[in-house]
Amino acid sequence: MSNLPGILYVVATPIGNLGDLSPRALEIFGQVDLIAAEDTRHTARLLSHFGLSKQSLSLHEHNEEQATPGLIKRLQHGQQIALVSDAGTPLLSDPGYRLIKGARQAGIVIRPVPGANAAMAALCVSGLPTDRFVFEGFLPAKSVARQSHLQTLERETRTVIFYESTHRIVESIHDLCSVFGTTRHAVIARELTKTFEQVVDGPLEQLCQWLQQDPNHQRGEFVILVAGAPPQHIDALDPHTEQWLTLLLAELPLKKAVALVAQMSDTPRNVLYAHAISLKSEQLT
Ligand code: SAM
Repeated sequence: MSNLPGILYVVATPIGNLGDLSPRALEIFGQVDLIAAEDTRHTARLLSHFGLSKQSLSLHEHNEEQATPGLIKRLQHGQQIALVSDAGTPLLSDPGYRLIKGARQAGIVIRPVPGANAAMAALCVSGLPTDRFVFEGFLPAKSVARQSHLQTLERETRTVIFYESTHRIVESIHDLCSVFGTTRHAVIARELTKTFEQVVDGPLEQLCQWLQQDPNHQRGEFVILVAGAPPQHIDALDPHTEQWLTLLLAELPLKKAVALVAQMSDTPRNVLYAHAISLKSEQLT
């Protein structure tokens, strides 16, 4: 057992262009005892491109729970470990959360080695507001669940960022169109840092057409960014509706309270939603 404390490094790797691997990431790969990798073969290929090879162990969404205690034990015995995923920053729509949580609880030193991340790369070239944004990761795979999740985001005023794969890009943009409206401004960032990188923007309806125009537009990896909804002007509710909403909000989650009041009154759900949010924030202040 080493007297030195172990260190867990969270190392970002490229999302396409290998030139984006940082000199510090390479230095860390050279010095650690072990690499915990989402796919060890994939990481071995990356390392071999840089003339490195290192012992690795796989840590993916299906074994993270079982693998975490062993890795923490190694760290407690003074080993240095680098956590990597297949591309970009680990933990961001990638494995690693359980390991980091466990390591933090065990008092292990954890160091970030920042680098590429598709969401941030896309946001920075999107032309959409960057001062406040929401990262939503992947949308649900099934259309009903996807649409109902999108409904909860319809009035979001911050820029919303989604990840999407080639398999569902058309369906997801289609659902965004039907829930957020055809005219909402959005951006599709495809194959960032790779040979066929494209970043297109326009109303959602136009992006739907762009995807259909050419099957090549549907290939690869995507970040979808949607402009936030304009802040709502909230008209006063009639006193009965306001009373019901206030009472139900005290007892139920916001979404449930809004759904019930929407059934009892003629007020549109999005107006109730905006009122509910403002009532909640009044209750908190
Ligand atoms: N951890 C990664 C990161 O930091 O961006 C994300 C991993 S997640 C499993 C993979 C998704 O990220 C893809 O389906 C796509 O939505 C997005 N993505 C990754 N690389 C990309 C790229 N080069 N261009 C556009 N999107 C990309």
